[in-house]
Amino acid sequence: MKKWTSVLTLVFLLLFSCQPEEIESAPPNIILFLVDDMGWQDTSVPFSTKPTRFNELYNTPNMERMAKEGMKFTQAYATPVCSPTRISLMTGMNAARHRVTNWTLRKDSIQPMEKNHDSLTFPEWNVNGLSPVAGDSRAVHALPLPQALQDVGYYTIHAGKAHLGAIGTIGENPLNLGFNVNIAGHAAGAPASYFGTDNFGNGMAGKEVWAVPGLEKYHGKDVYLTEAITQEALIAIDSVVSGQEPFFLYMSHYAIHTPIMADKRYYQKYLEKGIDSTEAKYASMIEGMDKSLGDIMDYLERKNIEDNTIILFMSDNGGLSVHARGGKPNTHNAPLSSGKGSMHEGGIREPMLVKWPEVITPASVSRHQVIIEDFYPTILEMAGIDSLETFQKVDGQSFVPMLKGETYDGIRPLFWHYPNEWGPSGPGIGAASAVRKGDWKYIYYHADRRMELFNLKDDIGETKNLAEENTEKLKELAVVLTNHLKAVNAQMPSYKETGEKVPFPDVAKAVIRIEKK
Ligand code: CA
Repeated sequence: MKKWTSVLTLVFLLLFSCQPEEIESAPPNIILFLVDDMGWQDTSVPFSTKPTRFNELYNTPNMERMAKEGMKFTQAYATPVCSPTRISLMTGMNAARHRVTNWTLRKDSIQPMEKNHDSLTFPEWNVNGLSPVAGDSRAVHALPLPQALQDVGYYTIHAGKAHLGAIGTIGENPLNLGFNVNIAGHAAGAPASYFGTDNFGNGMAGKEVWAVPGLEKYHGKDVYLTEAITQEALIAIDSVVSGQEPFFLYMSHYAIHTPIMADKRYYQKYLEKGIDSTEAKYASMIEGMDKSLGDIMDYLERKNIEDNTIILFMSDNGGLSVHARGGKPNTHNAPLSSGKGSMHEGGIREPMLVKWPEVITPASVSRHQVIIEDFYPTILEMAGIDSLETFQKVDGQSFVPMLKGETYDGIRPLFWHYPNEWGPSGPGIGAASAVRKGDWKYIYYHADRRMELFNLKDDIGETKNLAEENTEKLKELAVVLTNHLKAVNAQMPSYKETGEKVPFPDVAKAVIRIEKK
């Protein structure tokens, strides 16, 4: 007995003396799983207070699995369209500061829909996107997230949609931004086709800009784009997984952005539920994306590295709802109002999950308000980078303390700024700036200087504009927003009629506007 006791003691001593050091000395692998255009309700995981009809309709068992093993954030935000979110993610900067406020594609060129607006002339925003070098015109110069990770020894993999720099710029190619590997990423923000049988758009007349690069071995085959990218990402991880190097996988799916094309592995069963064919296709794309998440989680388990791998799940803007969908427009994110392109919650609130074994309490829920630029300092902290010289001013704040179970008791304002034109019209869509502080949200529309004030705690659907009822709160938030816009030297559009810039929403003007009504 005595002998066994001492052996056990020795084993325990070894366990407790070696294990913590080993954990500390092995930086975690990090997977950032970003879905394109996925709405807050596009999942079977309920992010609202109670399950909705969308949670009943969609099937995302691997998101459920991740929620069970990790933490769900019910108030996580991105920006209303693609590029501003992606640049904030890669730089830690708020959109008003980095000035890539609309989606990018053509070098030195604003979007066609910004050229003929009724009343506004749009500012010289950073149409060329992100640049890792100083001096590029109309681009934001910053230390990209993957570069920071590569610099401390991470093997960095880009898989899927990049959309970080315009065609012909340095930032167009993920390899110039600190990625060791680039799978299928380039300037464009959507694929010409999701079908391998279409060569993902390669060779399709007039689709050259949107044809997905690489992935030639899947051309002509009956493989969905989401599946091809996932398989290639796992091959890339496999090349380093047995070594000492930690990896960073930016799993940036093209799905579920338009074109809405059926993932036939799942399409039929949604048709059989009686929904229209467009919505059945959309649902099949969601489930194909979820299968990718599951394949990655299975791989980590198989390789016995899941305990030292963090997964962050996020979307880049709200679910598309104003056009191209089946059913009634602007209803696809209910109970949230509107969708992609909007300052209303449907355009910016995202399904967010984080899995970090041994750190996060399984099946926990955080109501902490997170915004997309917070991912940059968070991921750096996860990687053990505690001091970093960046060229840019980082606006985001790490949410690592929340993952460890701490609660944040201060009220931090979150900001959105879109001095641009997206195209379609709908609730909350158009050039605007907004702030959320606590339960309150204030939106200022540039074209007509209209204002909206909502209490999200009482009215998550933003149905009741309290701007006239609660002028104290309106003024308070107008000042908070103005101070931010001034501090970051935010760009504003100008009125075509007078040539004057749209004023910031300061107190005096807010009052005048209300009194005029
Ligand atoms: Ca998007």
